Amino acid sequence: MTESSDESTLGVGRPTKRRPGSAAGGLPVADPRPVFDGIGGPAVVGVRCTACRYPAAQQEIPWCPVCYQPVEPARFSPAGAAWSSTVVAIPVGERRPPFGIAYLDLDDGPRVMVHLAEPVVLPLGARLRITGTDRGDLVAAVEEPS
Ligand SMILES: [Zn+2]
Repeated sequence: MTESSDESTLGVGRPTKRRPGSAAGGLPVADPRPVFDGIGGPAVVGVRCTACRYPAAQQEIPWCPVCYQPVEPARFSPAGAAWSSTVVAIPVGERRPPFGIAYLDLDDGPRVMVHLAEPVVLPLGARLRITGTDRGDLVAAVEEPS
């Protein structure tokens, strides 16, 4: 038997971790993106460990990813400091360049990825505030000094 270099047979019959999702006729795939709740005081919702207090931006996870103890629902501040940011210069899905993304360390919570209201590279530690969502992704703007 000889190996075929034909791309149409590449990977056929091999196990894969990829699932097609409900849009392609498969099972529903959980959306791992953080959820912003603008009602009842703006907050990012997630969980916090009942033992070590580790915060996570995912809901409905069964146990703490650090110490495996039970978690409880938590609401996190929508403001925080930029850990890293960049401006994306290529189209990604429906998004057209340039657009900015950043990792935001919430003041009392986890690190979450946000889209930036303006496509700029921020200094480390720049203050950001989550203002809402765009197509399910968190959107944050630079916080004006008060
Ligand atoms: Zn824990």
